[in-house]
Amino acid sequence: MPHSAILAAVDTRRQDLIGLAQDLIRIPTLNPPGQKYREICDYLAARFMAQGFTVEMIRAEGTPGDSDAYPRWNMVARFNNGPGGCVHFNSHHDVVEVGHGWTRDPFAGTLEGDRLYGRGACDMKGGMAASIIAAEAFMAACPGWRGTIEISATADEETGGYGGVAHLAELGYFDPARVQHVIIPEPLHKDRICLGHRGVWWAEIETQGRIAHGSMPFLGDSAIRHMGTVLAEIEERLYPLLASRRTAMPVVPEGARSSTLNINSIHGGEPEQDAGFTGLPAPCVADRCRIIIDRRFLIEEDLAAVKAEMIAVLERLRASRPGFAYEIRDLFEVRPVMTERDAPVVRSTAAAIERVLSRVADYVVSPGTYDQKHIDRIGRLKNCIAYGPGQLHLAHQPDEWVGVQDMMDSAKVMALVLEDLLAGGAAP
Ligand SMILES: [Zn+2]
Repeated sequence: MPHSAILAAVDTRRQDLIGLAQDLIRIPTLNPPGQKYREICDYLAARFMAQGFTVEMIRAEGTPGDSDAYPRWNMVARFNNGPGGCVHFNSHHDVVEVGHGWTRDPFAGTLEGDRLYGRGACDMKGGMAASIIAAEAFMAACPGWRGTIEISATADEETGGYGGVAHLAELGYFDPARVQHVIIPEPLHKDRICLGHRGVWWAEIETQGRIAHGSMPFLGDSAIRHMGTVLAEIEERLYPLLASRRTAMPVVPEGARSSTLNINSIHGGEPEQDAGFTGLPAPCVADRCRIIIDRRFLIEEDLAAVKAEMIAVLERLRASRPGFAYEIRDLFEVRPVMTERDAPVVRSTAAAIERVLSRVADYVVSPGTYDQKHIDRIGRLKNCIAYGPGQLHLAHQPDEWVGVQDMMDSAKVMALVLEDLLAGGAAP
């Protein structure tokens, strides 16, 4: 089957692609709280069943946020056409809050010229629509294909993916015996292949002191002053060290090619009062001060060493500073992942990008994590990338949009990937 027939099959579906993306944007799957998940899964299921896919609806019962009011629904559509490999497209169906600053209706799916506007247009209903059109065009243009195509729409990516991809991975949906190639059409742009992401460690650090009257602070011990020394150590010793560590991972933007540390929050002393409170604060020495740190680490770094480095800062203070006491509590951790450049799905996507766009693909790594972590860690599937239309900097912004031509081009790339991986009926 010549490529031209597959590309033409995508071209004839331009209006279908726009309409599909608009329909998806018009279902406001806001997360939190996680609404309309069943509606979007039902909408997709009807489309897939009409084309002979087997559809499963999976509720991630008991996962964070799941309730009868806000059930965590996921949909997996599967089409088997004989022996061969399985290519899986995974898109999250949830979108983040609207926020301020919109000049268009965020759930109208307004088309203006080449731009389709709406919350989730870029992240990632445009990519979901493009992958569906890619599969449909390929199946129509290449009826002799062999193997399996799977398309999933999953919950909660924006809040960690526990009610979505993590849950499906726990159930075995990403077992390498079942699925061999995964493409996540996140908005990394149509000429870039995202191989993975950096690691994450979140922790809470608390310094401890002793409460006393604020007029006689020498009778107490200020947890805030102790925390001040922690912050000074981080500033003077840790930041230069982290900035000097460079990764071979092609992370974009460039600034994220070093280890980074953000202090997400700080709180010490008396709790803040409600906005309506008109009284004065009480004079007390703070006996507790807490910070939340967000440490992003590189594939060259070891998670245990990352933690030990922070603990060494705290232990140095304990040894040198009278009264210094602390506790540290892990909140969240994700190991870095990076698919090899010669993995089959990477090579196939790179070749398709060259064919469709007449340019060499860029390889990138994301500074933050996405659902690939669960596919890698729980599913143990390494042959996974993120590839899809849209520009990452528009994600979560007001007036978020996706380009129609970008969706079309990336649908062509994904259709050619299917051809490469499935048309010959090659064994996985
Ligand atoms: Zn996303």
